[in-house]
Amino acid sequence: MRKLNLLVALLCMVLCTQCSNAQNKNNMTNTNNPHYSRTDTNKLNVPDSEWKKILAPGVYKIAREKGTEYAFSGKYWKTDVKGMYYCAVCGNQLFRSGAKFASACGWPSFYEPIRKNSVIYIPDDSHGMERTEVQCGRCNSHLGHIFDDGPAPTHQRFCMNSAVLDFEADK
Ligand code: FE
Repeated sequence: MRKLNLLVALLCMVLCTQCSNAQNKNNMTNTNNPHYSRTDTNKLNVPDSEWKKILAPGVYKIAREKGTEYAFSGKYWKTDVKGMYYCAVCGNQLFRSGAKFASACGWPSFYEPIRKNSVIYIPDDSHGMERTEVQCGRCNSHLGHIFDDGPAPTHQRFCMNSAVLDFEADK
């Protein structure tokens, strides 16, 4: 019996180690990123050549080359868990889950940012359209676009790419 207890204890230790390794891997983009901070709101001025070395290719493509993930493909387009959305590039606070709404567009959609200067707005006439690009207010990474067909109270729709969002659920 004592041997069995010892074996169970040993097994638990191994599993716990593997679990923490997996968690570290999930946070890889953050731990390898010296600019990532959820508390520092100072503007960043990091060249793309450096971001390219830091960011996962899928994140770099959207954040720094203004890419767009396929509709209905991102991990947050239909989630409604309570928590905070951060910039996946720099950790800047962007949106509260309370401002997220169910949108049929296939991308995570919010009606307002957490702070006025969490994001910045850039006119975008690419692809034969006149749109307004939304960038992170701290690191100037491309997040998505804003449209005026959202719900009350703002009637705005911040149409974001999941790949450039980090989400942390409320404890
Ligand atoms: Fe950012």
